[in-house]
Amino acid sequence: MDFSLSEEQTILSDMAYKFAKQELGPLAHESDKEEIYQAGVVKKAAELGMVGAWVPEQYGGAGVGCMGNALITEQLCRVDMGNASSIITASFGCEAIWLYGSEEQKQEYLPLVCSGRAVSAGAFTEPDAGTDVAGYNTRAKAEGDDFVINGNKMFITNGTVCDFFVVQAITEPEGKRHARFSQIIVPADSEGITRNKIKGKMGIRASDTATVAFEEVRVPQANLVGTAGRGFYQLMHFFDTTRPMVAAQALGLSQACLEAAVKYSKERQAFGQPIGSFQLIQQKLTEMAIRIEALRGLVYRSAWLIDAGKPDYTLAAMAKYFGGQTAVFCANAAVEVHGGYGYIEEYEVERYYRDAKILELYEGTKEAEVVTVGGVLMKG
Ligand SMILES: Cc1cc2nc3c(=O)[nH]c(=O)nc-3n(C[C@H](O)[C@H](O)[C@H](O)COP(=O)(O)OP(=O)(O)OC[C@H]3O[C@@H](n4cnc5c(N)ncnc54)[C@H](O)[C@@H]3O)c2cc1C
Repeated sequence: MDFSLSEEQTILSDMAYKFAKQELGPLAHESDKEEIYQAGVVKKAAELGMVGAWVPEQYGGAGVGCMGNALITEQLCRVDMGNASSIITASFGCEAIWLYGSEEQKQEYLPLVCSGRAVSAGAFTEPDAGTDVAGYNTRAKAEGDDFVINGNKMFITNGTVCDFFVVQAITEPEGKRHARFSQIIVPADSEGITRNKIKGKMGIRASDTATVAFEEVRVPQANLVGTAGRGFYQLMHFFDTTRPMVAAQALGLSQACLEAAVKYSKERQAFGQPIGSFQLIQQKLTEMAIRIEALRGLVYRSAWLIDAGKPDYTLAAMAKYFGGQTAVFCANAAVEVHGGYGYIEEYEVERYYRDAKILELYEGTKEAEVVTVGGVLMKG
């Protein structure tokens, strides 16, 4: 057993961190404050192979697998989770195409996204159903060679900036509850689509989030991804591969919190000495460091298992659950170490604190991860 990164992985990780420091760092504050989606930075990242890096080379990706993608994600989020999210999610939804799409769909869509010529979005959540994935109501009715789609989607990342969506919709209304869904590729410029940016998010404010309405939107039935009626199961499998990446986001953000807290602990004086000399401060730093190391193990192992062809959805849910908790814990501790200065935007930990919370909410709330892991434990 060897826990060390390969030379290529170390180079990849260093490259991603350097890029983040140079390109994301200077934009972080303004993007957050003004809620600016930075298309230019996504394009630059794509040029370096960091968009859809998990996509195999034959389809235009960097072919670094989920492990390589986790390293990139970690290092980008170590600098700025908002703009990092725009880069990481520029291929969101394409996991479905990779896992279940036809050869033609892979050839058409994956290179577009990896090269930065297109941005994708996964349109699953609806205003009345998020965690209840089988409770979605968007319909895709077969008419001739087309689907006609009607429904509303909520909280869609890249909703106003993407070029196409992978939409979760009911195609088999008469089927059993979980057997009614399909996944369909829908070009964003299709007639009948209305998209509106959701403003005023607590964190990751550089990332584009939108409501998307489909009214009589017509796409060819050839845009079906995978098997009609299997969409629910396809989406569950999809999340098994994306949850370790959310945990990798948490890992990078947690690391940023620790680094900021250690730096400040050495600089800030109280009672005639650096606050880092107080053991109560050291305890916070130590707790952060231990949790980060534990999280790193979960992230790397769950990503490595996917690349090894042995995805472990329980481990992926554990990584996602622990990742969110670790990020929230570390961001909170980092603010506390900064005292009152942690509460003002001049210090980055204020942004980290707001950015962290989403990691307990999207792609499965922490409660949803407990339901997954708990269910497995009770079966065993
Ligand atoms: C910034 C942002 C970006 C997002 N990006 C995307 C995206 O790109 N695509 C997309 O499709 N969605 C996206 N989402 C949606 C996100 O995945 C959902 O918000 C999330 O799944 C929760 O769904 P909900 O908000 O409807 O909450 P609900 O499902 O209504 O949950 C409300 C509360 O009830 C709890 N709960 C629900 N069911 C159970 C249960 N069985 N047991 C215990 N507790 C339960 C939840 O844990 C939560 O605490 C995004 C959300 C945000 C905020």
